[in-house]
Amino acid sequence: MERTLSIIKPDGVKKNVIGQIISRFEKSGLRVAAMKKVWLSKKEAEGFYIVHKERPFYSSLTEFMSEGPVVVMVLEGENAISKNREIMGATNPANAAEGTIRKDFAESVERNTVHGSDSPESAAFEISYFFAATEIL
Ligand code: ADP
Ligand code: MG
Repeated sequence: MERTLSIIKPDGVKKNVIGQIISRFEKSGLRVAAMKKVWLSKKEAEGFYIVHKERPFYSSLTEFMSEGPVVVMVLEGENAISKNREIMGATNPANAAEGTIRKDFAESVERNTVHGSDSPESAAFEISYFFAATEIL
């Protein structure tokens, strides 16, 4: 069993496809262990994406991530981290495989609908950024 952090980004929430996205996770055998809808401040988005602070897109990315509500989830299952990344598709929707969330819903490399932790270390940091241990069931 492994846990990963998933976020439905502001573009996905605006498109009203929260249910469709969660359904894809469930159909692939992942389960939602924790979930909430939150509207991040710019500062909270910056803290979450701190590993990207030197990247040229950091300011624009954190502006985007705080433009409206997001849905934050802990997904649980076998190989949850890599399974989630597979269901999400490539960062740039232009390169995303058929049937992936980003292929079907994303608008651009920035407005790409979902976030998923990329390693056990980042999953631990990202889950604890949003959830207390008592909120993960
Ligand atoms: P991923 O979300 O696939 O793990 P990264 O960790 O590399 O991708 O980047 C984090 C987020 O930053 C991406 O999901 C996307 O929203 C944004 N991003 C990445 N690359 C670019 C880029 N070249 N231009 C604008 N935004 C980007
Ligand atoms: Mg990443």
